[in-house]
Amino acid sequence: MANAKKPDAEFAKKVVEAGGKTVNLCFQCGTCTGSCPSGRQTAFRTRKLVRRAQLGLKDDIMKSDDLWLCTTCYTCYERCPRGVEIVDVIMALRNMAVREGNMAPQHKKIAELISKTGHMVNLRDEDKALRAKLGLEQVPATVLSTPEALAQVKKICEVTGFYKLIEGGSK
Ligand code: SF4
Ligand code: SF4
Repeated sequence: MANAKKPDAEFAKKVVEAGGKTVNLCFQCGTCTGSCPSGRQTAFRTRKLVRRAQLGLKDDIMKSDDLWLCTTCYTCYERCPRGVEIVDVIMALRNMAVREGNMAPQHKKIAELISKTGHMVNLRDEDKALRAKLGLEQVPATVLSTPEALAQVKKICEVTGFYKLIEGGSK
């Protein structure tokens, strides 16, 4: 048993407290895995993720790529016969992982964009040119064209600790 993983007995409780209230209702039927569009393309198995959370296999989850493969489509959430709010469980696990400095690189890029521009998708020069061609203002009336609003976004990122989370967690 030298390689046995040591579970964290308090982990499921922490998941519940972090927003995954229904994690312990799962009885491992596998409906979520069978419904998951992401799991059809990858090795991600929703049922296993939920089980690991119940068992307290924290180390398996916190650094796992699987944790970031859910697209939050809510199919499993709607189909679970036990009413497990699976997306809430996954969000709770992701929040815990991020606080420990584990954020998927793609999510990190999006978080950086939001913190710098107030938007998830950058406005490219091609987009500006296309808008001008359509007779629109090159930069739409959003945070992109309102420096005061962007300053507020940055302030929110600062006071909520969002910048720190992007940089590598805040245990
Ligand atoms: S569908 Fe619900 S009960 Fe079934 S394995 Fe998934 S989370 Fe558990
Ligand atoms: S919400 Fe996530 S885990 Fe559930 S089916 Fe969609 S991609 Fe899969």
